Amino acid sequence: MNVAQIICAKRDGKELEENDIRCLINGFTSGDVQDAQMSAFAMAVYFQGMTHRETASLTQAMLSSGDSLSFPNAHRKMVDKHSTGGIGDKISIPLAPILIASGLGVPMISGRGLGITGGTIDKLESIYGYRTDLTMSEIRSVVMLVGGVITAASKEIAPADKRFYALRDVTGTVPAIPLITASILSKKLAENLDHLILDVKWGSGAFMKSKDEATALARSLVLTANELGVDTRALLTNMDRPLGRMIGNENEIGESLDVLHGDGPDDVVELTNRLAAELFVMSGVSRNIEEGILQSQRVVRDGSALNAFREMVSAQGGDLDHKRRRGPTVVIEAEECGNVSEIDCEKLGLAIIEMGGGRKIVGQEIDHSVGIEMLVQRGDSVDRGQPIANLFVGETGKETATRLVRSAFRYTDQSVSVEPLIGETIDVESLSAQIARD
Ligand code: URA
Repeated sequence: MNVAQIICAKRDGKELEENDIRCLINGFTSGDVQDAQMSAFAMAVYFQGMTHRETASLTQAMLSSGDSLSFPNAHRKMVDKHSTGGIGDKISIPLAPILIASGLGVPMISGRGLGITGGTIDKLESIYGYRTDLTMSEIRSVVMLVGGVITAASKEIAPADKRFYALRDVTGTVPAIPLITASILSKKLAENLDHLILDVKWGSGAFMKSKDEATALARSLVLTANELGVDTRALLTNMDRPLGRMIGNENEIGESLDVLHGDGPDDVVELTNRLAAELFVMSGVSRNIEEGILQSQRVVRDGSALNAFREMVSAQGGDLDHKRRRGPTVVIEAEECGNVSEIDCEKLGLAIIEMGGGRKIVGQEIDHSVGIEMLVQRGDSVDRGQPIANLFVGETGKETATRLVRSAFRYTDQSVSVEPLIGETIDVESLSAQIARD
């Protein structure tokens, strides 16, 4: 089929052959397929979806548009975690050194802020000198030297995804599960991993607002990654509240260091330990999740995880001892008394963007010093006038951010039930059993 025929076939709900998908992506990468055609294809997928087979072919074609990492002679199993992102989600930062200190390799390629959610790369750039633009050979040498990196995708990794995402972003076609699956996995699978854990979030602070959407995405990611040869599981986690107390770039580095010092907030510690434990079980470091959690706690307690983080930061040019800047404090007080029934995380994310800590346009410089400190969580009881959050903010966006954060809190005189942070685990065995049943 030619490109127009491929687009028409998808528009009409037909299943595409692997070869058609490969030709389309190869043509897009070489410049033979025009942006208008790729945008039309994205819209056709948005409405018609893709079968699991098609999604795997699309992921493989996008992965093959670039290079993959390889670690010949590495003595470590290579593992990674990907999160679909959420407000206050800094888990990758303490998790990577916990894994490294436990003898695993972590070639983590991470992203910048997307929409309302912050990005690990932006957060790490608040560390003085920290380089996030490592080349493929630098990634390899830092992994071999200290056990892991956290860096942005170099231009060699899945170039088709970079261009395709830019088109999806301006054509209303980002929220299509097959396209999200191929986009995420084309970058993660370029790391040449043995095991991958996915943290798929749902709620007002997440990319996926409903649990059903998050479950569908988790299933698609787990099936596709396993089909393409990487042992992968997903955890569904709740984002109807911010993760931890700190939101913002510098702020979240501080909280990640607290976790590595054995002093982080309970929810961040719980999720970090659980994701580490999943990878310890998958890679054979631990026999079960309980042992895995103990392993994670052990490398924090004996200081080896903090040491691994110091080594990684320094191998990437960063200086952890250089003082990081924090903006002046504005205290937000409760407007009512009662129990906190809802925290609209989207408003918190928008407040960070208004203060300059996130981007309104592509490529915008961000201010790492701004942030929010949450003083209460869902379910807490507050008095009128009680401080509920601190903003760290300069003059940029101060009034709008103050309004947004104040209005993010809802109160009730009823008691509030708070759902557990960690939900279902999705693995390929449970999915295959389910597919067989259906
Ligand atoms: N994150 C990605 O990397 N790609 C998407 O399409 C959505 C989220």
